[in-house]
Amino acid sequence: MADRFFGELADVPVGSEWLTRLQVSQAGVHRPTVGGISGTKAEGSDSIVVNGGYEDDEDFGDEIYYTGAGGNDPGSGKQVADQSLDQPGNAGLVTSELEGLPVRVVRGSKGDPKYSPTAGFRYDGLYRVADHWSEIGKSGFRIWRYKLVRLSEQEAVPYTPQVNLPAGNPAPRTSTGIVTRVVRTTAVSESIKSLYGYRCQVCNTHLDVPGGIVAEGAHVRGLGKPHSGPDVPENVLCLCPNHHALFDAGGIYLSDDLTVHDMHGHKIGALTRHPKHQIDIGFVGYHRQLWGH
Ligand SMILES: [Zn+2]
Repeated sequence: MADRFFGELADVPVGSEWLTRLQVSQAGVHRPTVGGISGTKAEGSDSIVVNGGYEDDEDFGDEIYYTGAGGNDPGSGKQVADQSLDQPGNAGLVTSELEGLPVRVVRGSKGDPKYSPTAGFRYDGLYRVADHWSEIGKSGFRIWRYKLVRLSEQEAVPYTPQVNLPAGNPAPRTSTGIVTRVVRTTAVSESIKSLYGYRCQVCNTHLDVPGGIVAEGAHVRGLGKPHSGPDVPENVLCLCPNHHALFDAGGIYLSDDLTVHDMHGHKIGALTRHPKHQIDIGFVGYHRQLWGH
């Protein structure tokens, strides 16, 4: 996890260009020198290259319908076999969707000419994975598809092909600061989710989906203003999306003995607590008083 960096690189503004994949890799924007997706199931995918390698790719600029990796003939770009979610990059894009991780998009000159550089490769900013599904592609094989959506319209680079733009554009746009709004997971919430085996501490639900498990790290005392709670294990619960939503909106709360109550004060049951997980009762009380209990 330590190596893989999600989001904007401080020294690589949107619009940066390189001539070769090796240079893109050396800049840290997209590490693999051949593969189109950088990432793993455990960590998520931090970057992709869109370069016409797959016949089913569709590029609309601010939205990309990206084809997963594998099963294609590198020469023609045609699919010759089914794709699998076991492929690390494909699974990584699912993780990025589930965890809300931003994906750096690099476009190459072999992509859709409307949105691609005329030569070499260009960093086009951060996208999120909005959706994924499988379907039978043009050549009759099962492919995985990912809908990627540019994070913020005002941060969009102009998608007109730039002729002879030198590497090291002196006045590029950047989109620094987007990451904090997007990343829904942290090392802390990931560790808590893992401790509970991704089961909800209220209802014990375990939500398996192809490529991952849906679970959320819920901060007892909210992170943002005005609550300014800390991102520490003592302040994080592993919840299913329903109970996370209920907890954040006061539909459920905890008493100091960690009994779960509904909004009317009725006891629902005991919160599951792992022996290694100390929950700070101060944060529990803070949350409870927000809802008048
Ligand atoms: Zn639940």
